[in-house]
Amino acid sequence: MTFSIHGLAVARGIAIGRAVLVASSRVDVAHYFIEPSQIEREIERVKRGRDAVVDELHRLQQTITQMGPKDAPHELRALLDVHLMLLQDEEMVGGVKHWIRDRLYNAEWALTTQLEMVARQFDEMEDAYLRERKADLEQITEKVLRAMKGQASTGLPVGIATARKAYSAELQLEDTDTPLVLIAHEISPSDMLQFKQGLFAGFVTDVGGKTSHTAIVARSMDIPAVVGARTASQLVRQDDWVIIDGDAGVVIVDPSPIILAEYQYKQRQLEIERGSLARLLKTPAVTLDGEKVELLANIEMPEDALSAMRAGAVGVGLFRSEFLFMGRQGHLPDEQEQYLAYRRAIEGMAGLPVTIRTVDIGADKPMDNGLPEDKHLNPALGLRAIRWSLADPSMFLTQLRAILRAAVHGRVKMMIPMLAHLSEIRQTLALVEQARAELAREGVAFGPIELGAMIEIPAAALTLRTFLRHFDFLSLGTNDLIQYTLAIDRADESVAHLYDPLHPAVLRLVADTIAECRAHGKEVSVCGEMAGDVSMTRLLLGLGLRCFSMHPAQILAVKQQVLRADTSRLQPWAQSVLEAEDPLAALGS
Ligand code: PEP
Ligand code: MG
Repeated sequence: MTFSIHGLAVARGIAIGRAVLVASSRVDVAHYFIEPSQIEREIERVKRGRDAVVDELHRLQQTITQMGPKDAPHELRALLDVHLMLLQDEEMVGGVKHWIRDRLYNAEWALTTQLEMVARQFDEMEDAYLRERKADLEQITEKVLRAMKGQASTGLPVGIATARKAYSAELQLEDTDTPLVLIAHEISPSDMLQFKQGLFAGFVTDVGGKTSHTAIVARSMDIPAVVGARTASQLVRQDDWVIIDGDAGVVIVDPSPIILAEYQYKQRQLEIERGSLARLLKTPAVTLDGEKVELLANIEMPEDALSAMRAGAVGVGLFRSEFLFMGRQGHLPDEQEQYLAYRRAIEGMAGLPVTIRTVDIGADKPMDNGLPEDKHLNPALGLRAIRWSLADPSMFLTQLRAILRAAVHGRVKMMIPMLAHLSEIRQTLALVEQARAELAREGVAFGPIELGAMIEIPAAALTLRTFLRHFDFLSLGTNDLIQYTLAIDRADESVAHLYDPLHPAVLRLVADTIAECRAHGKEVSVCGEMAGDVSMTRLLLGLGLRCFSMHPAQILAVKQQVLRADTSRLQPWAQSVLEAEDPLAALGS
């Protein structure tokens, strides 16, 4: 039966494919496809994890037996029996093997998927006692996952062809090219990276806001995505046909042939529209009144330099270096690894400038080290970005040294996230100096850099003069600027309707920052999602912005807006939008 689910539109386009579910789990686990040659090893990993938990439960049973009935109540013994029984449950064991063997899921993914399948059956049970056993099953699965945490995983994700072939073979589909769409309660930004090689044609998550980092990575992959779809991961079943309308933020499950045909048509139309934008690739981004505009790319990994070049970016305006630090169970990349990664990005941009942002770990970009101290009360307001770097100067120095060394290979700009205090600026500048002095002393080659700051905390925008004095360039991180101005967690779908780039307070901070930078002859850009939103291009141009940094996939669409714009007309209009009580209404005027 066809039904639809509504969420937030984050990445445009239409995807049609079969659902692959990623079940949520309280234990942070990786999800990736394995090579067929790794199947037995993955099965063995689950077995070892399970054996470890069985041993632990047996030991507990023995301890209990040695205690008197007063200290070890009967219920406790019964519970252990249930847990041991669930661990050996054939459906669980057989199911896990099935996901590994037939779908090439890694061990942890197989385990959480099977848990989800069995848990759904528990939910449907009439008997309240049996229904409650679901919690036990979740508990022991968690134990197994934790027991597996210490083991090395087989690692290498496989290519799309292998994963799809396994999928089609198992479902006995003739078409070995069936597109797959990912449905999950939540996908961590690092998991998204694993999937970046193009395994999935689209994404849906229950949680997340439009500028959550998971949404940002989905957008950078240029595939349709819907977040904040609340119960999607419970309503959609494994292998369902799903349509993701990334423009409308709608997910259609089990579509009828008529609906399917309609969306296939729309999909083709969109492809044609996109194809026609390609003609703008070599056209310089200049407005009708001759204003030159720089269109830069935001990237997450060095390899993204390729798509930036292909999209005609004139440089990288934001390299989110923290993606090199994520999904590594806390093992940070050392100086050499970082140096090589930055160098790859720089060389990939073939002489064009590359802005490397120092790590912005924290909030919705955890480092996945699973340590309890990772859990902070309010991570968006906690130890994040530069605060994290300054809290661990030796880690920060490692990154600074790597960037300075990479600067030998091209034009490098270094940018610092989340600065608000003069003391943070001073400490940062001192550490940059220290990194330079160390390299010089050691006789290690390093290159010149321009140093910039992100303006993404209202306090920074309101004390801009300090930033103008200390930095060569500034970049507005509107994603966070909106979050912190409006006190809206950007990753929380329940308040997503209040996350408003056009709130007069946000516009005021953006407009004043641009104006002050221009007045001081200081280079300023916007590198938040606002820069790639075509509905904002005219307004930002009217406010005086001439440098936009965005996902490569957005560059041509924004260029089209630039080519049609006349900034001399846009300027007074932008001022009227800025003064308006309701800027959204004024924007349409
Ligand atoms: C921003 O905050 O606008 C930004 C570009 O940085 P990030 O999205 O990585 O926080
Ligand atoms: Mg930010």
